[in-house]
Amino acid sequence: MANTSWIVGQAKAAGFDLCGVVRAEAFPELAKTSEWLARGYAGEMQYLHDPRREDPRAAMPGIRSVIVCLLNYNTKFPLSTEAGLAGRNGEPKGWVSRYGWGDDYHQVLLERLEALIARLRERFPEPFEARAYVDTGPIQERVAAKYAGLGWLGKNTLLLTQTIGSYFFLGVILTNLEVEPTLRAGEMPAPDLCGSCTRCLEACPTQAFVEPYVMDARKCISYLTIELRGSIPEELRQPMGNHVFGCDICQDVCPWNRHAPVSALAQFLPKTLLSREENERNESDAPADGNSLLHPRLESLLSLNEEDFREMFRGSPVKRTKWRGLIRNACIAAGNSKVAHASPSYERICERLKKLAACSDSVVAESAQWALSRIQ
Ligand code: SF4
Ligand code: SF4
Repeated sequence: MANTSWIVGQAKAAGFDLCGVVRAEAFPELAKTSEWLARGYAGEMQYLHDPRREDPRAAMPGIRSVIVCLLNYNTKFPLSTEAGLAGRNGEPKGWVSRYGWGDDYHQVLLERLEALIARLRERFPEPFEARAYVDTGPIQERVAAKYAGLGWLGKNTLLLTQTIGSYFFLGVILTNLEVEPTLRAGEMPAPDLCGSCTRCLEACPTQAFVEPYVMDARKCISYLTIELRGSIPEELRQPMGNHVFGCDICQDVCPWNRHAPVSALAQFLPKTLLSREENERNESDAPADGNSLLHPRLESLLSLNEEDFREMFRGSPVKRTKWRGLIRNACIAAGNSKVAHASPSYERICERLKKLAACSDSVVAESAQWALSRIQ
């Protein structure tokens, strides 16, 4: 049997910040999944209906253990709650969720998980099965992480840790190898340290929390900006503010993130939103006020055509929205921007919105019309 401390050491050597192991079993929280789905809270996310997600024993034939690995993606740059809707010169800006600023984390984590599996195979030469997943496995990673001793599930529904907060990615390895669990028999997972705090519940602009620990994903800005393919429901547009990809608010207000450590990985630093030619000319790695994904100019986003989008977001998590989704979101953000008529960018933004309002894509066209009706 693989020993926990050996695995944790190997996970660190493979580049992870934390690692825990849990036996594959039906964790208590998973019993609530079907009711959550029945209430329609998953919206259009059909993959969440996979019944294997309700019991890790169904996730892989012969599965014994789940190895959960955590990688910090936090950077030194401001929080969404500090950034405001506009740049220094009053130019309207969008907001991209912290995890979307850098390289596509799926790839970054998968490489590390594969490295960890290679170490396991060296140590245990007998054939065994091991499957690495980053978001794509039929398993609820956050719940497995809790029972692997990594933290607790907060009122904002995310996994929280005392040492790293919640700005991290999770990757899992499902295996039929017997690995010693992090928590010994009878040992409880980390206690819930949310206490009487309700900051995340109060700060959510779309009131997506039905109650503490329960989210209606259909109202969450992350769902609206990334997963939803059609039009954003009218009543949720104004509360979306300037979010164009994801939302960090319920993490940014969390006291456990106040002193969250910063990752040393350059892969998670904000990319610049430049064409390939411009990128080659750009010698600065300080993205603070340019066309950075940190606080991108709405005018730049609204100017992207489909080819620009493909070029600029290759290797970025933002590509998940596809061109249509990002432009739809940028239109909504422009409609919420309160851009002043006297602002130098006002005419240019109106011009771009008018062009998009005539687009053959009805979702983009309608979003642009809505934005124009709000700022003209
Ligand atoms: S991510 Fe944003 S919209 Fe979603 S629950 Fe958290 S605060 Fe609300
Ligand atoms: S903001 Fe407060 S209640 Fe919400 S997850 Fe953080 S500690 Fe828990």
